[in-house]
Amino acid sequence: MAGGWARDGAVQEQIDASINDELARLKARRSPVGESLSHCADCEDPIPEKRRQAIPGVKLCIECQQERDGSYKARGGINRRGSKDSQLK
Ligand SMILES: [Zn+2]
Repeated sequence: MAGGWARDGAVQEQIDASINDELARLKARRSPVGESLSHCADCEDPIPEKRRQAIPGVKLCIECQQERDGSYKARGGINRRGSKDSQLK
């Protein structure tokens, strides 16, 4: 009557595997890319010191980073650089 336990174990292993997967993906996304910039590589806004300390090798200001992450909420008509969409693949 212990058949159920093996199944649970297998499921747990799958969950662990996908968590490791996710962690690996996150790590790859924020792979070190040299020194932090004092100004955004995209819009050239100054990057706050706190952000630079929090994210080693940061290249983008918060707005540009969010835009690239796809979590940027367009606030109607803001389009500081015209062709950003073409950079998103
Ligand atoms: Zn920026």
